[in-house]
Amino acid sequence: MQTLSDFKGNVISPGDHEFGRARLVYDRRADKRPAIILCCSDAEDVVLAINHARTAGLAIAVRGGGHGFTGRSTCDGGVLIDLSAMNDIVLDEVARTVTVGAGVLTGDVLRVTAPKGLAPVTCAGADIGVVGAAIFAGQGHLSPRFGNMCDNVIGFDIALPDGRLVHVSETDEPDLFWAVRGAGDNFGIVTSMTLAVHAVPSISRVCTIEYDTANALKILQRFRDHKWASPLPWVLGNIFLDPVTSETRLSYFFALTGTDGDGDHDLAVIEEFGPVAAKSIKEVDWLELHSELPFASDCRFHIAQRELPEFDDSTMSLVAEEVARFESFGRSIPWIEGLPGAMILFYPTDAAMGVAAVPANAYSVRGGYDIEALAMWREPSLDMNIVEWAGDVVDRFISAGKAGKPSVLANSFVDLALTKASFGGDFERLGQIKQRYDPANIFGSTAVIFEKRD
Ligand SMILES: Cc1cc2nc3c(=O)[nH]c(=O)nc-3n(C[C@H](O)[C@H](O)[C@H](O)COP(=O)(O)OP(=O)(O)OC[C@H]3O[C@@H](n4cnc5c(N)ncnc54)[C@H](O)[C@@H]3O)c2cc1C
Repeated sequence: MQTLSDFKGNVISPGDHEFGRARLVYDRRADKRPAIILCCSDAEDVVLAINHARTAGLAIAVRGGGHGFTGRSTCDGGVLIDLSAMNDIVLDEVARTVTVGAGVLTGDVLRVTAPKGLAPVTCAGADIGVVGAAIFAGQGHLSPRFGNMCDNVIGFDIALPDGRLVHVSETDEPDLFWAVRGAGDNFGIVTSMTLAVHAVPSISRVCTIEYDTANALKILQRFRDHKWASPLPWVLGNIFLDPVTSETRLSYFFALTGTDGDGDHDLAVIEEFGPVAAKSIKEVDWLELHSELPFASDCRFHIAQRELPEFDDSTMSLVAEEVARFESFGRSIPWIEGLPGAMILFYPTDAAMGVAAVPANAYSVRGGYDIEALAMWREPSLDMNIVEWAGDVVDRFISAGKAGKPSVLANSFVDLALTKASFGGDFERLGQIKQRYDPANIFGSTAVIFEKRD
């Protein structure tokens, strides 16, 4: 067996000057100190890193873009396998696919594909790991038309716990292919992934329309019922507090990607939905579009999410209640880097978007809308308040009987109960596949699909 002396990438130990930064992930609450950080340069390095951890009896954490919500892409005292240097990108314009290394971020891949008028379905944020998102779900501007990132995967290369490197697709290791698209960090380390790409316009209009909230329910209903003339956009609703007036705002963020005429028509209708407090409409290219939802840096981050299977009027009334009661909590969380510290996001998912047939895979949160209470902050003293508030927002939908499945991707706290609720009837099948590929459970992952683990 090869040893770590064959490792080609960077090795960072606690005494090294880079260690302080290299150990960090996006959510600064995950303040952990690995025993060693192995920055892999290719798939062989990944195998060496896995073998090293197993031989030394150390826990493994795997980090792609570092934007996971659960703090599992770092660890205390174990081996942090960092994939950020594995950033090859190969666009095949004829086959309409792009193959990315495990460290590629949204912005990296769009920088290559967008100038050719092509893009895979990606997250809306430029800094998110492409593989890290696709192995759970991954949603963004193209999702209403082409589904989630996991639905657009054509194949993976995966380093398994036993040191084998396998190709995984509909025809190769099909069970694993099904499982990795939804419960992806449980079975091995994805070293590269191939995704479908779609035609995208060179210029889009990115729009944010902010409304006064006196008639929030009407605005919510009108947006839900709007028939878009433009190609179906990904419409992100947001409840937050205006920093100047301290009044609650209801805003909608979306990109218009069709003709000017269709976009003008949509805007004219939408601006009549309620009293507009502020708006921003600007032309951007496809890459710039993915920097339009900025997120704070060096911050703590928490999210609690639930699916809302029916976005019917009674569910909308609950959302409107959240608008009405947001102000007092909103005032207790400072803005950060020009961004609201706390917000409640809601957006349509597969069923509400009308996405056509999706391939069978383990991702299962596909009904209606998503509601997410999220916060970014720097003061540890706010931790408990924020966690309680986010949980409370979600609980109100659960106790009203309006909440569906939770997502293992979009919750900061993921335990066995949440995982079972998320995967439902597929949980058992996932456990069997786990038993086959990672019986020793060396990938203790976000979605806890091994009952014996907890
Ligand atoms: C600010 C912010 C904005 C976001 N915006 C969006 C959005 O617009 N749309 C959306 O769908 N999601 C969004 N997300 C969620 C994001 O898609 C997920 O958290 C995703 O898992 C992050 O992937 P990553 O590689 O950046 O993170 P990491 O923390 O590196 O990885 C996340 C998980 O995947 C595992 N993992 C990563 N790479 C691999 C690999 N190659 N093989 C096996 N396991 C691996 C890690 O171990 C960890 O458990 C956002 C998150 C944040 C913090």
